Amino acid sequence: MASISSEDKRIMYVGLCCLDIINICNAYPEEDTDQRSLDYYWKRGGNASNSCTVSSLLGVNVEFMGTLVKTREYGFMTSDLAKYDIKTENCAIYDGDRYSCPVAVAIISKQNGSRTLITALNNIVELEFSSFQKVQLQQYSWIHFEGRDNLSNIQQMMEMVEQYNNDVNISDRIIVSMELEKVKRKQLVPLMKKADYVFVSKDFAAEQGYSCKEDAVNGLIELCKPSGVIICAWGSDGAAAKAGSHDHVTSQVFSPEKVVDTLGAGDTFNAATILALNKKKTLKEAITFGCRIAGAKCGLNGFDDLR
Ligand code: ADP
Repeated sequence: MASISSEDKRIMYVGLCCLDIINICNAYPEEDTDQRSLDYYWKRGGNASNSCTVSSLLGVNVEFMGTLVKTREYGFMTSDLAKYDIKTENCAIYDGDRYSCPVAVAIISKQNGSRTLITALNNIVELEFSSFQKVQLQQYSWIHFEGRDNLSNIQQMMEMVEQYNNDVNISDRIIVSMELEKVKRKQLVPLMKKADYVFVSKDFAAEQGYSCKEDAVNGLIELCKPSGVIICAWGSDGAAAKAGSHDHVTSQVFSPEKVVDTLGAGDTFNAATILALNKKKTLKEAITFGCRIAGAKCGLNGFDDLR
């Protein structure tokens, strides 16, 4: 295959694509009451899939890699991925009679933009290494892994990229990042040593005993490889990051006039930060861009007006 110039290379997000069923309410409802929602719609969601949407809106050549199941939601999901020009040719496609499509029901409060999620992840199928093996790695400049329950499979995928990186020129190496979002997924911690950039959520850091973003990155850098970078978004307090033994850097929050929808703020932050780092911006510039785009997103319903 002819070599691909670095500007033409793709960013790949590996992780979940789910259906979000959104209800926008005036305020978060009281239990056992009956009220009308202000708006209702289906949206393609999931961390990796959301980051693909934001990347595409920001002009990135982007690919989603994960599982898709041929249930009644399949047509909606695939046409929506195509609508945003998100490549999907490496996805593993499963029959709908054995597996379910992951679905999240979201209640968004118009009062403060909060998002409450109820996720139905029973009987979903996680991506297996065998599906990843067919990926032609020379097409990518960056691969991001959403830390999910398929630990040994993610590990093998990361090792495949590691092996590829050992065999190519430094300029052709793929940058690897991962996200640790859910508190319950502590089993993924050893994988932090395999990534160039690790994104940890506020919830994950708080569970580890950290009460501010600066302490979180200063402590959690110990879990990364010596050349690794840790990045932690901290909701309405912006974000911090630390590279190896360098001093940490921070970004302020960029508050919109009114916060209307925070669903996917973290995925937006990740996508914008990765885009900036992939363009060789400094760590501080990158997280500042991440916070700026994520802040703008919080003032919008969904992602579309980010373009
Ligand atoms: P998640 O969506 O994963 O819970 P966070 O709440 O940590 O993610 O938010 C990610 C980023 O989104 C933050 O670093 C911040 O830049 C931005 N953000 C989140 N909440 C707000 C807010 N209320 N106002 C402005 N920006 C916000």
